[in-house]
Amino acid sequence: MSHLFGPVPSRRLGRSLGLDITPYKTCTFDCIYCQLGRTTNKTVQRREYIAKDLILDELRDFLSEGNGDVDYITFAGSGEPTLHSGIGEMIDTIKTMTDIPVAVITNGSLLFREDVRGDLSNADIVLPSLDAATTPIFRAVDQPHESLSVDQIIEGLRIFRETFEGEFWLEIMFVRGVNDRTDEITALSDAIAIIDPDRVQLNTVVRPPRADVGPVDEDEMIRIRGAFGGNFDVEIIAEKRIEVRADILPLLERRPLTLDQIAGLLGMHRNEAAKYLRELIEQGVVIETVHGDKRYFEANPNPSTEP
Ligand code: SF4
Repeated sequence: MSHLFGPVPSRRLGRSLGLDITPYKTCTFDCIYCQLGRTTNKTVQRREYIAKDLILDELRDFLSEGNGDVDYITFAGSGEPTLHSGIGEMIDTIKTMTDIPVAVITNGSLLFREDVRGDLSNADIVLPSLDAATTPIFRAVDQPHESLSVDQIIEGLRIFRETFEGEFWLEIMFVRGVNDRTDEITALSDAIAIIDPDRVQLNTVVRPPRADVGPVDEDEMIRIRGAFGGNFDVEIIAEKRIEVRADILPLLERRPLTLDQIAGLLGMHRNEAAKYLRELIEQGVVIETVHGDKRYFEANPNPSTEP
């Protein structure tokens, strides 16, 4: 079984080659919005869940075969990657294998541990999440392992940020009616001021979650961003996706266009335009065709009903 997935288009990381280093589904949380389904092994125990040499061998093979452009090698996948006790050694080994930057997507729950902070210290970018700053909402959204406390997690994020030399982007996932109240946003804002991330990225449920929960609508996301004030670099990543979709599709409904034409019309780099096109192709609303020696993109005349 392969522990590599992708490269897949990622809204935050461009073309991301994923390393799945925990078995399905091993996590410290059981978030109500998790798109992977219920956590079957809720634990805080770190161990070598999958042999790190096996994962590194697969990556070595992938890189030696020159399998296309990769913007980031990303630890993510079927659970919480910092539960793997070999993540630090794997990051260090990857840094000797390639210049491709290494990213870690984590729920941040174990960064209060010194060994975990040390393990992630050589990553290029760490993307933790923080969905709540008060205990009741933390328990409601993330349904954490009983030993975890939100205060301890915020303190762990703060200490890690102090010493980590790479990029540190904090994501907050908003779930309608659960963590979008003004008092929770104020508490989150206070926590972010303490943590001091490079960026704050606001997201909401866009893929089918495991529980019957819904997204915060676009106007509300804009209100939430405003509630954080001008103290941090706050962006709405879900909104960006919606805007780009709204910009690209009308162009492609009129006539097929090449990647360079689309990038030129939208005023964005061709790599960025390619990333959004791949998303739209995956969603079934855009198709790719070849005429002569040119590749064109056009609106799918028979799109799926998925958003
Ligand atoms: S932390 Fe991530 S993998 Fe774990 S339950 Fe939450 S969304 Fe799912």
